[in-house]
Amino acid sequence: MKEVKTPKKPLIFYYLIAMLVVMALNAFLFPTLMNRSIKEVDYSQFLKMVREGQVKQVQVEDELILFADTAERPAIYKTGRMDDPELVNRLEEAKVSYGKVIVEQMSPLMSFLLSWVLPIVAMVLIGQLLMRFMFKKMGTGGAPGPAMTFGKSNAKVYVPSTTGIKFSDVAGEDEAKEVLTEIVDFLHNPKKYTAIGAKMPKGALLVGPPGTGKTLLAKAVAGEANVPFFSISGSEFVEMFVGMGAAKVRDLFKQANEKAPCIVFIDEIDTIGKKRDSANGMGGNDEREQTLNQLLTEMDGFDGTKGVIILAATNRPESLDPALLRPGRFDRRVPVELPDLSGREAILRVHAAKIKHAAGLDFSAIARAAAGASGAELANIVNEAALRAVRQGRDEVIQSDMEESVEVVIAGYQKKNKILSDREKLIVSYHEIGHALVAALQTHSAPVHKITIIPRTSGALGYTMQVEEGERNLMSKEEIENKIATFTGGRAAEELVFHSITTGASNDIEQATRMARAMLAQFGMSEEFGMVALQTQNNLYLGGDASLACSPETAALLDRKVIELVKRQYDKAEALLAQNMDKLHELAKFLYEKETITGEEFMRILEKPALEN
Ligand code: ADP
Ligand code: MG
Ligand code: ZN
Repeated sequence: MKEVKTPKKPLIFYYLIAMLVVMALNAFLFPTLMNRSIKEVDYSQFLKMVREGQVKQVQVEDELILFADTAERPAIYKTGRMDDPELVNRLEEAKVSYGKVIVEQMSPLMSFLLSWVLPIVAMVLIGQLLMRFMFKKMGTGGAPGPAMTFGKSNAKVYVPSTTGIKFSDVAGEDEAKEVLTEIVDFLHNPKKYTAIGAKMPKGALLVGPPGTGKTLLAKAVAGEANVPFFSISGSEFVEMFVGMGAAKVRDLFKQANEKAPCIVFIDEIDTIGKKRDSANGMGGNDEREQTLNQLLTEMDGFDGTKGVIILAATNRPESLDPALLRPGRFDRRVPVELPDLSGREAILRVHAAKIKHAAGLDFSAIARAAAGASGAELANIVNEAALRAVRQGRDEVIQSDMEESVEVVIAGYQKKNKILSDREKLIVSYHEIGHALVAALQTHSAPVHKITIIPRTSGALGYTMQVEEGERNLMSKEEIENKIATFTGGRAAEELVFHSITTGASNDIEQATRMARAMLAQFGMSEEFGMVALQTQNNLYLGGDASLACSPETAALLDRKVIELVKRQYDKAEALLAQNMDKLHELAKFLYEKETITGEEFMRILEKPALEN
């Protein structure tokens, strides 16, 4: 349901009417005034009038004769000038005086103003009024084009029931739902939180690959919270004219403040929230920066206790301006990841509930076949299956429809999305377990929160959620060395098990190298170089790249030492894995089959005495 705005300025209608009156005057009245009653008569009529003494004054021009009669308000006549030698005599006879016949001529300036300037001014004014009038209408109306919408935000206001989406419509994504449930709860019982002095986060940022249900989750929050829901996409702020995006942001927050408690949802926020470039020489994206600045200002400005919560979604969190992410703005970051096996099954079930299907479909098998698929792709799989059933003239979806449609959808996506072959999956399992096992054997504690081998859109084939280490400011030399060993653990496991190596370790190599180099050149952790800074850190807030600050000879030596250091750690990792081959196999097998292994499961297998095997 759309909010209805009452027109606030009837004034413009008066303007409009005044303009019309002026136009009418100009069109009809002035011309008649100007040639007020100049009657054209023929020459004989003129002579007759002269003879009868009806003419008071005559003005002779080259081509014509103007004359006035004797009435009190003389009428003006004109006639063609004949070649009449008698004319002067006749006029003398009748005692007609010569001279200018007063025609009510306007001054040239006045007539210019009236006939040229006034209409133009009137046109411009009327044009503007019409435009404004139209925008007023469009601001509350449907989906107008970008050029027509400046001024008002076209955030749509939903009444609670219109999204109609509940958390139960979102399958999997339990962590995300948990965070958002708290927000819903706050909107329902703000007292519970304010009583203890807790401030709710002003904003939560949903991040994750496309199609994982970010937009869906935001809608579900609105559906659960029963508060107005303003939804706007970042791209809708991008306007033709500088300053219009900022105006829209202002407007949006004004509306939101009036409607509090409510939820503002900014989808695809990266469109406006991109990092502001300090080296923006051309002054290029002024409009976007202004919009972003306005957003930052508004987020600071409003009162957190009032119950305006801002949700935003993006699949490019790394490109966001850091100012957006600092506490007080989007201080909650809610990861919405690709679903794992059980998540995929749950999503399939949610969507299958909306179609007619045979009893006893094996969803688990379908979920297994669709490794790496996102929520949106799974929804598509179910829909494809339904379409196939219709094509084949059946009135319900059966198992073979689903299996077929997985192939259709997956084959369609295979290029875009990485779906792992069985062998790749096995290699990735060993690789990821290699990392985790090396880490665990060195620290004797659970190194990971969770490992999954669902391909990431970032390009990584596996994903390891590290155990939160809390705030770590100091690291010892041993810890850094262990970290380097952990980075090399993936490749070491591949080498040990498959006797061949893959490209999967490129990121590990990069990180291991960067760490080793920093250790020697920045942290002074070597015999050779001692406490000498050989490289410096630049632009800490803008990428933070390091630049070398030493002689070429030292740089060459540094390179050799870095290579040695990484090699030493690699050998250490390989030795650790070789001593624990059975654990490596067991853990990798578990991960290969389940696609996900938690830290607890990992430690359970690792600490299980070998006898039980
Ligand atoms: P995103 O905004 O993350 O790109 P959407 O929220 O637009 O993705 O998801 C697109 C569609 O995919 C949804 O409308 C829904 O049908 C389906 N979908 C995605 N994730 C889920 C999920 N976790 N549970 C149920 N359906 C999902
Ligand atoms: Mg979306
Ligand atoms: Zn790796």
